[in-house]
Amino acid sequence: MTEMLEYEDKECPKCGSKNIEVVDYFKVELLEEFESRVPDTSGYVFRLKKKVTKVYSCEVLLGCLECNHTWSCPGTVSEEEMEDDR
Ligand SMILES: [Zn+2]
Repeated sequence: MTEMLEYEDKECPKCGSKNIEVVDYFKVELLEEFESRVPDTSGYVFRLKKKVTKVYSCEVLLGCLECNHTWSCPGTVSEEEMEDDR
């Protein structure tokens, strides 16, 4: 399973530094869920796999590497999972 996190704040609200990192994040609620079909490249035989994507809203905890300020901002996380479809 792969997760992709996106969040709004790109700089520290206290000192304006862009040198920030994600400390942690918490999923809040499922926003949407959709399925698509993608080629499976793991074997020699070509076949399609089902890819399920779930998008959650989340609370992102950010930390500034310059002044050590921590704060939270809203974000989204999309979760992708491949499923065998036979
Ligand atoms: Zn800062």
